[in-house]
Amino acid sequence: MDTVSPDTRSRMMSAIRSRDTKPEVLVRKFLWREGWRFRVCDRRIEGHPDIVVPRAHALVEVRGCFWHRHGWTWDGRKLVQEAVCGDATWPKSNRAFWNGKFRKNVKRDERHEALWLEAGWHVAVLWTCGLVPAKRDKTLAWLAKKLDKWSLRSAAAPRGFAVTRGGA
Ligand SMILES: [Zn+2]
Repeated sequence: MDTVSPDTRSRMMSAIRSRDTKPEVLVRKFLWREGWRFRVCDRRIEGHPDIVVPRAHALVEVRGCFWHRHGWTWDGRKLVQEAVCGDATWPKSNRAFWNGKFRKNVKRDERHEALWLEAGWHVAVLWTCGLVPAKRDKTLAWLAKKLDKWSLRSAAAPRGFAVTRGGA
């Protein structure tokens, strides 16, 4: 990953950023099949969450483990590791470049999550390592359970109590 030419790298990055990444399509197809109706990349919500499920008052984010640093959080000064994901590797060269990029991504994700919780959304974060064929069913079942719970609660209970991360 760290030995590719700048040209190739920028192509890889724009492919990663594109909206219809495969794991996200997988999640959307699952939701549709299960009868959940949703909006994709809603521009009216700051941070443009991947999937909005109005009936559960929930936002579902599908995050690539490498780019979004699965297992890492921002402690106000630096990235710190809280869980181990084999896909969140650190390229050996260009450390400064990657560190800056990862730091920016994690900080941005955390800022958006804080905004969404503040606005009363439930937030479910799915990591791509949990959507590989061997783990997919379990991860999607987890998501379905969360959405069920949130949709039953959404009329009565306080919202946005936590960001829930699954699929690791
Ligand atoms: Zn992961």
